[in-house]
Amino acid sequence: MNTPGSIVILTGAGISAESGIDTFRSAGGLWEQHRVEDVATPEGFARDPDLVLGFYDMRRAGLAKVGPNPAHEALAQLEREFPGELLLVTQNVDDLHERGGSQRVLHMHGELKSALCTSCGMRSRWEETMIDRPPCPVCHAPSLRPDVVWFGEMPYRMERIYAALEACDLFVSIGTSGAVYPAAGFVQEARASGARTLELNLEPSEGSRLFHESRLGPASVLVPGWVDEVLSRAVSGSSA
Ligand code: NAD
Repeated sequence: MNTPGSIVILTGAGISAESGIDTFRSAGGLWEQHRVEDVATPEGFARDPDLVLGFYDMRRAGLAKVGPNPAHEALAQLEREFPGELLLVTQNVDDLHERGGSQRVLHMHGELKSALCTSCGMRSRWEETMIDRPPCPVCHAPSLRPDVVWFGEMPYRMERIYAALEACDLFVSIGTSGAVYPAAGFVQEARASGARTLELNLEPSEGSRLFHESRLGPASVLVPGWVDEVLSRAVSGSSA
């Protein structure tokens, strides 16, 4: 493969699994013992706001007990050392890419450590709980919700992502099941624009056959190995 000049990386829950954060579907469609419909939809929030606020309060507090793994750290090294264009898009709402050293991460599904005010629409960095209905730091209304994109809501920064997919030479999907759209469609977008496509996942994802290449194994092993390959090719300027 030629040295890519421009890479788009998409990560999913699988990259954080070895850090101790459950993936979405690890327990038969449940997320930490809850139905996705109850904790990850606007309807679930309207039905039982205490359940949803408490659920994300737990997830946010849980971040203090986990840390980045070698896969997050390798992507941070790639950001520092890759001489071309790099866009790291994550579906994850955790902060392990940042804590692994990445400085430019596009969180297309939002972030646990961000609050969205349903009164004024402003976003604020948030480390505390929300179940006690704290005031919005901007408008002071007690109307904060997790700044997380739920099913049925529009992911963030899609224009930016599609523009990068159209322009990239290489699209890499890491630790994602390929079940959640629109992220699951990124491989086709990239291929349609002529990019090479690579999947790094523990098991074949739903869209595995859409990739030019699929490598199976744990992210903590596959990602550092792939980053080494890209950086050594970029340094030597060679093709492999
Ligand atoms: P998913 O749970 O649907 O799929 C996870 C994928 O990761 C699976 O294909 C699995 O085989 C793979 N995987 C598991 N362990 C792995 C490992 N050690 N190395 C490599 N791959 C591994 O997750 P998804 O595709 O990201 O989609 C689910 C949605 O869940 C996203 O919208 C995301 O916002 C949300 N979510 C986020 C987190 C988080 O922030 N860490 C956790 C759970 C769910």
